[in-house]
Amino acid sequence: TRPGSVSAAKAATHCPYCGLQCAIDIVPDPSGARVRSRSFPTNRGILCPKGWAAAEPLRHRERLLVPWIRSTKNGPLRPASWEEALDRTAKAIRRIQSHHGRNAFGLFGGGGLTNEKAYLLGKFARVGLRTSSIDYNGRFCMSSAAVALQKSFGLDRGLPFPLADLSKTEVLVLVGANVVETMPPLQGYLQELRAAGGTLVVVDPRTTPTARCADLHLSIRPGSDAALALGLLHWAIAQDWVDAEFIANRTTGFEEVRRQALAFWPERAARMTGLSPAQIREAATLLGKAKTAIFLSGRGGEQQSHSVANLLAWINLCLALGKAGKPFCGFGSLTGQGNGQGAREQGLKADQLPGYRSLELPADREALCRFWGIRDAELPHSGPTADPLLRSCGLPGGLQGLLVLGSNPVVSAPKSLEIAERLRSLPFLVVVDFFLSETAALADVVFPSAQWAEEEGTVTNLEGRVLLREQALPAPPGIRTDLEILHGLAQRLGCANAFPAQASQVFDELRRASSGGKADYSGITYSRLRQEEGIFWPCPSSGHPGTPRLFLEGFATADGRARFHPIEEALPAELPDGDYPLWLTTGRQLAHYQSGTQTRRSPSLLAREPEPTVEIHPAMAEKLQIAEGDRVRLITRRGFLRASARLSLAVRIDSLFASFHWGGEGSANRVTNPALDRDSGMPEFKLCAARVERESGA
Ligand code: SF4
Repeated sequence: TRPGSVSAAKAATHCPYCGLQCAIDIVPDPSGARVRSRSFPTNRGILCPKGWAAAEPLRHRERLLVPWIRSTKNGPLRPASWEEALDRTAKAIRRIQSHHGRNAFGLFGGGGLTNEKAYLLGKFARVGLRTSSIDYNGRFCMSSAAVALQKSFGLDRGLPFPLADLSKTEVLVLVGANVVETMPPLQGYLQELRAAGGTLVVVDPRTTPTARCADLHLSIRPGSDAALALGLLHWAIAQDWVDAEFIANRTTGFEEVRRQALAFWPERAARMTGLSPAQIREAATLLGKAKTAIFLSGRGGEQQSHSVANLLAWINLCLALGKAGKPFCGFGSLTGQGNGQGAREQGLKADQLPGYRSLELPADREALCRFWGIRDAELPHSGPTADPLLRSCGLPGGLQGLLVLGSNPVVSAPKSLEIAERLRSLPFLVVVDFFLSETAALADVVFPSAQWAEEEGTVTNLEGRVLLREQALPAPPGIRTDLEILHGLAQRLGCANAFPAQASQVFDELRRASSGGKADYSGITYSRLRQEEGIFWPCPSSGHPGTPRLFLEGFATADGRARFHPIEEALPAELPDGDYPLWLTTGRQLAHYQSGTQTRRSPSLLAREPEPTVEIHPAMAEKLQIAEGDRVRLITRRGFLRASARLSLAVRIDSLFASFHWGGEGSANRVTNPALDRDSGMPEFKLCAARVERESGA
């Protein structure tokens, strides 16, 4: 069975992939459906190859069309009815919670889930199951940025300004963000910036396509992000380029940071970063002399075991230069996943409640208890973050059952072979997905769900702009939406009324739940979203226009001042040595998205990037007698992966680069380091020590 006809009046939607959420239409096609780009303030009619290919997985022959269950723990999966699969799951939840306690059953969500799904899954954990064991894969993506933005500005909205500001600032600094490949429509903004006389600075160990567009590319040594920011701050202070008036009137805590920066004179910062003192002075001069500047961070500095410190170091620099809280200035983090922003606002995170409230603040708990009609004693507190949650599976005192929705941790978690082993050892694993992902293949029950174009719902893009995705296609017969699946489970657990299956009903509830919270959606409705080009939160009333620019009057802290934070200087958790002499960094490729569950099933994308590769500098490859296309084995202290060698001048001679979109033996996270950032729980995906060798017989 395949999706049927398109309702032309309801075809306006957004790309299912990254946080840019480009606007698209789904239009009828002899083969079912195809994508047409749509003019919108963010992507301005431009799509990347993933967007153009977004309809391909909708009709894929591997699409799951019925529930699957395993009759015995190690037996094969077999087709089952919805009733049998839902009954089995509800029974397992009851059994596990009554034998092992409420927290022994956990939930794991994804940053691609709509706001409605994120809200309902969070509520299902806290109100339906009363478990504290819930987190999502955004922990692996944006968690360090979220912590740093909260600490510094009192609020985490990835970009506190609209994308349009990027081409109107004087200096744009991209830190560990390869937007030309990860969010290609942003390239137009970079071109406009430079055409208007602006300057693009890119900080990245790799000479990425984005770095090749830069006026100044700072190819730092992996892991030296904070040292560079401190070196720039040192030179800005030495040249008296800091904004004393802004620091005095709008911030607190500069003195300690100033003292820390004194030790990072250009020659020392140069030694730490591998740059020249002249490059550091040049970058500091560009920033010090500019009237406006924007700093944008990507996953490069954010996926490290000291990632919050990295971000705070850059925010300190931004604040010291007085480049925040005014038009065409600011610090932002580029949200990676389609609804990475919204999902963390709706209570999907281990420590948060809807409206971006905290599970640990009494006033926030009270607001949600009142709204949900429960007592404080019934509302769990914060639970473990993603990595320890997954790694506890099947262990005494850990999870005994897990529901995974919209995520594929067997590919996306660090040191992933251990995660697969832990999931295999769980007494009960249930996965909701539209394909048999590597995680779903281990499950006791698999529910097939509707895809993005087959249901309505909202997402919040990287700017904090709430968008409505209309349903463009009917789902294949018999398929249920994620909301209907949660509703079906709630029915069997005796709480169906609290978990509606209609997205519009859930949105109406979540916007009311957010009222008074930091991410206030209460003035946003589906009917407004149908008429406007998205609405920026906070939007506290029906007549409110939304808030494209935050912090113009004051920051979101108790006294309205931004906070400087001295940072703890620390090395990466693992350094290259004689056995593992190279750095391994991991990241994204243009043609694929996340764990590749969808894009590895898009024929046009697979034709562009058909297999896992490891990028090696040609000089290093020559030394190791590796030629382009050779099969290689990349080895770290966690194990090995197999891939094809790609010789590239983009990587430093001391580094290797592997993309993380692949399963099986080519999966990058088989070898990544699970060392976690203490404040955010972010693993060190971007740095570990490795060696590479040609496979014998290759
Ligand atoms: Fe736009 Fe991102 Fe989709 Fe590409 S993947 S079309 S950049 S939303």
